[in-house]
Amino acid sequence: MLIEIAEIPQEGLTVTLRAEPVVLRLLDGGPPTEAHADAVLRLTRTQGGVLAEGEVASTLSLICSRCSEPFALPVKEPFSVFYQEPLPPSAEEEVELGPEDLDTDFLAQGRLDLTALLHENLLLALPVQPLCREDCQGLCPRCGANRNEGACACAGPPADPRFAILEQLKREP
Ligand SMILES: [Zn+2]
Ligand SMILES: [Zn+2]
Repeated sequence: MLIEIAEIPQEGLTVTLRAEPVVLRLLDGGPPTEAHADAVLRLTRTQGGVLAEGEVASTLSLICSRCSEPFALPVKEPFSVFYQEPLPPSAEEEVELGPEDLDTDFLAQGRLDLTALLHENLLLALPVQPLCREDCQGLCPRCGANRNEGACACAGPPADPRFAILEQLKREP
């Protein structure tokens, strides 16, 4: 969805939109996930640009990094991005983006691509290590059984950490 900057009224504009499903890929090469993005955002014209503030919401289809089961993760990511009006060509060469400009984007041809804005912010909501639940037990390293579904045949009694310390003391000179 493209917004013409010239059409944003002085008092600002509130936009509700649903972006097309997008395939997102985790940074570490994890499986792709397809997601809709819903957002309510407020566009305000300010000195030299447009401020876009809002929240993007989606439900991501992810694969658990411990047990490899698919699961749905609802996410909400607030954002605040300032779009700067293009500078005159002479001034542009001298501009170097500092750390404070990280959330600054330049407007292309007087238009704002809201779909791209939502997708970028949705990407930020992607967990690096998705977990189907906080205490996911993962897979048994020996038989590969999903330990969330119960103990497998090779599950022995858990080692008592106190004995482990004793064993270690015995080995030390
Ligand atoms: Zn899991
Ligand atoms: Zn097992």
